[in-house]
Formats: sequence, structure tokens, C-alpha cells
Amino acid sequence: MHFDAVVIGAGFAGLYQLLCLRDRLGLKVQVIEAGGDLGGTWYWNRYPGARCDSESHAYRYFFSRELAAEWQASERYPGPAEIRAYLDHVARKFDLRRDIRFNTRVAAAHFDQAAGLWRIQTEAGGRCTAAFLITAVGCLSSANVPAIAGLADFRGKWYHTGQWPHEGVDFRGKRVGQIGTGSTGIQAAPVIAQSAAHLTVFQRTANYSVPARNAPLAPEFKRWAREHFEQIREIVQSTLNGHAFRIEQRNVADVTPAERQAIYEAAWEKGGLQFRATFKDLLTDRAANATAAEFLKARIRAVVKDPATAEALADIDHPYAAKRPPIDTDYFETFNRPNVTLVNLRQDPIECITAQGIRTKSSRHPLDIIVFATGFDALTGPLLKMDIRGRGGRSLREDWKGGPSTYLGLQVPGYPNLFTITGPGSPSVLTNMPVAIEQHVEWITECIGHLRKTGMATVEASDTAATAWGAQVDEAARATLLWDAKHSWYFGANVAGKPQVFMPYAGGLNKYRKICQGIAARGYEGFVLARA
Ligand code: NAP
Repeated sequence: MHFDAVVIGAGFAGLYQLLCLRDRLGLKVQVIEAGGDLGGTWYWNRYPGARCDSESHAYRYFFSRELAAEWQASERYPGPAEIRAYLDHVARKFDLRRDIRFNTRVAAAHFDQAAGLWRIQTEAGGRCTAAFLITAVGCLSSANVPAIAGLADFRGKWYHTGQWPHEGVDFRGKRVGQIGTGSTGIQAAPVIAQSAAHLTVFQRTANYSVPARNAPLAPEFKRWAREHFEQIREIVQSTLNGHAFRIEQRNVADVTPAERQAIYEAAWEKGGLQFRATFKDLLTDRAANATAAEFLKARIRAVVKDPATAEALADIDHPYAAKRPPIDTDYFETFNRPNVTLVNLRQDPIECITAQGIRTKSSRHPLDIIVFATGFDALTGPLLKMDIRGRGGRSLREDWKGGPSTYLGLQVPGYPNLFTITGPGSPSVLTNMPVAIEQHVEWITECIGHLRKTGMATVEASDTAATAWGAQVDEAARATLLWDAKHSWYFGANVAGKPQVFMPYAGGLNKYRKICQGIAARGYEGFVLARA
């Protein structure tokens, strides 16, 4: 079967890409999705406590006012079921399901240079071809289960949060061990602790967290959000990170210590990622950042009653928000429960997993269930899982051995007509994702529309443009404190053997949007457009 375009993935990105290519450009499109239904990350991440930490009035599509008027989330932060229901509504409204093949995983995609098309093969052996191949595979969809010796011997059950069983897991009466204290672990631990007989949290790197302060949305807020759709859209499309709040333009040094304390306290009470927006220089100035870090560490010490546990939780080795900052519901309070223990792996590292549980250097922890909240092989992982081959059979796995090289995170030299939505080198994970996704999808749609209009068959990033863009990605990260947290997954540090390259573009979604617009306006500068 031949298609004008094949899109891999049916999350926010894949659905909108289908709609744009099919209904706006009139192309014949097939979406191929590994999961049994829509949702992408929200199809797989059903772990206890899972919730989006972008606010619901910003975590949605903005391309249709009508759609926005029809759907409103019920809470400040939507959970996976509500996000899936939203995507289902979108799919019904635009009749998208008929072009999606579920339960089908792409194994390989090879560019056939002679025929000028992509040959796509699924794990089940299905084949199709397409002029354009668009990956909408998400940035955080390749689960990272660390290779800890002995896992195969464990007699209990184990789960990764990103591949959570749809029927749920019953923790009642069980001794549970959770490895990982990133955004996921911080959401999961309080909920697991409510039903488990005992929860042991294994912490390698202590983490900051700000209360989410989730709550049902008041009718007045819903009305306000409906009536201010255009203003909200204007904000999300013009800010650095695609959220519906602006970053304050003051620096920490512009206010007195007492004013600063009051600002942090108000942001703490308000809750959520907005804490990061209290001062302009929090992510660029170490001394400024240290004031936020100290405020947050003091909160941990004030909440957690056992002094040794409080110290282990507050012993944070990186600037605030240099790693992705979590938000939580009663995370630190959870350590005051009698059925919760923290193991500080910096002092007492994991040696192995045994049949009975986890053995650390100084103790044995008998467990019935192990929860791996150990994150993802981010950004490159989902792409490299597939055998993608470009011109002359060159392989993406080989080409990216030393780290990803892309132009704008949208295209890879040597791979004509392959587009990577929110790929490495784009703002992606540093933003409120649906806003970054919309920008990419619309840019790709315009680019393909341009090719069609001008009779061009292929578009391909040039090597020079990709090299220059790589330098810009590097430079943008170096200008921030994100560069200080070398052990973050932004660098790929969480996956053994992964090249250490800062992957997302940290220059801001607003600036990135303008760069992409400029490049298109200048006739797709840095791309080579060719006739068949
Ligand atoms: P993560 O941030 O990579 O955290 C993984 C955790 O597992 C870290 O604490 C890490 O420790 C630990 N870990 C990994 N390997 C380990 C090992 N071998 N031994 C001991 N500890 C180990 O992953 P995540 O929490 O799943 O979050 C990933 C991203 O997903 C987030 O940053 C966010 O972008 C997104 N997310 C979003 C939401 C939301 O919107 N609500 C929720 C969850 C996640 P180290 O820090 O020492 O590596």
C-alpha cells in the first residue's frame, strides 16, 4: 500500500499531523501506532499518581477555538484518563480513527533512493511505502529499566511506570520498593504509600519539588479560560516554555531578601511549575538560583520530621530546575508515614536484586513488588528503537553513535523527507509539549505544502545547516544552568553507554518559532529541495 505520508505515533503529535496533512493538504495518510489506542505517553503512563504537570488550560491544542470551547478539563492538572478522553474527543470530532492502525509497531523504515520513497516495515511483517515519513513517537516513550544484576531472579513482581498494566497494581499488604525520584517517582510514592504495607524509596539523586496544589477547576476559572482563549494562546505561543504564564522580568538582586522570601512563599502557595517563573535569572545565574534552592531545601527540612531522612531528601547536588523540576502532592509529607522508608543510595548503593528483594551495600530489603520509576531513554531512544536508514543505506543508529545531529530537531541530513516532531535539537521537553508539537506540525505541513506547490519531491537538511544548528543547541544550553546538571537525562546521562550530548534546544520556544519561520520565509534555508 502506498501513502503520501506515514506518521508513526497517535499521541498529540500524530493526531494533529494526520489532521493537517489529510484535511488541509488533502494527502493520503496512514498513522501507525504501537499502543492499542490513542494517547501516546498517556496511553502507557498509567502509574499511580500520574498526572500532567502542565496546567490543563494550557495542555491542549490551540489550533481550533471551537474545539477549545467544547472541552474543558475538570482539574488544574489533568490525569491520563482525562487526557485520553480529550484526545478521543478530538479524534471523533475530526474523524481521525479511520486512518490509524493500532497495535502495530514500526520495526524499520528505509529510504529507497531509486524510487524516492520510504519503505516501512512493521514488527508483524506488514509493509507499506510513503513519500514522507513523520515520526510522532514522543520524547519519553522508551522505558529505561536499569541493568541491575539479579532482576531475573526476583520472585516478586516488577513494573516500569512507563509501561504500567492497564488493570492497575494492587499494593495492599505488599512490601514495595520504588527506585527513582524524578517527576514520576515523586508523583507515584505518595499514592503507593497509601495502600502498600510498606514502601521503600530508593533515592540516587535528591530532587526539588514544589506542591502542585491540584484541585477541581472552579466554574469561574473555566469561564475565564473559555472567554480568554485568544489571550491564553497568545501567551503560550510567545513565552519561552509554552506555558500559560509569563516569566517575571525582575532579577533576584532587584528585590530585598524579605521581598524575595515573600515572592517565593506566594509561589509556593500557588504551586506548580510557575515557581520557576518568579525571577528572570533563576536559570542563568548561580547566586540567584541558590536563593530558590535554599528556600526549597528549607521547606523539605520543615516538612520531614526525621532529621536524617530530611537531610537525605534535601541534599540536592544541582541548581533548582537544572534537572526537570517535579511538582507533587504530599511527596515530602509521605516520609512522615510509619510505613515509608528512604534509602539514600549515595551512601548505601544498590548491589543487586535478589530473589527476595533489593540488596544494598549495608542491608537487605525484602520486597514483593519493585517499581522502576527510572525514566526513559529520552529523545533519541524512541527513534533509534527503529531501524531507520537513509540515503545509500546509512543508518541512524550509526550516524548518531556520538549523539544526535539534526537541523532544528526537524530533519536529519541524509534522510530525505523524514521529519521528526519534537526531535532532539528542538525545544520539546523544555516546554509545555502540545504547544511545541503544534508549532512543529504546522511547520512540517507548510513545508510539505510548499513542496507540492512548487513541484519538488524531496526536502533534506544539509550537513552544514545541521552542524551549525548543533552548535546553536550547545550554545543555548551553555548559557543556562541546565549545563551544570551533567547527570540529567537532558544529556542522556541516565542511560548507560548513551553519548553525553545536551539534546533539547534551550533557547526558548518563542525564539525557536521565529527561527523556523525565518528559515521557511527564506526559501527553506539550510534545506535542499529537489525534484524527482
Ligand atoms: P527521570 O526524571 O529520569 O527520573 C528517574 C529516576 O530514577 C531518577 O531519580 C534517577 O536517579 C533514578 N534512577 C535511574 N536509574 C537508576 C538506577 N540504576 N539506580 C537508582 N536510581 C536510578 O524519569 P521520570 O521521573 O520518569 O521523568 C522523566 C520525565 O518525564 C520528566 O522529567 C518529565 O519531563 C516527564 N514527566 C512528566 C510528568 C508530568 O507531566 N506530570 C510526570 C512524570 C514525568 P538520577 O537522578 O540519579 O539519575
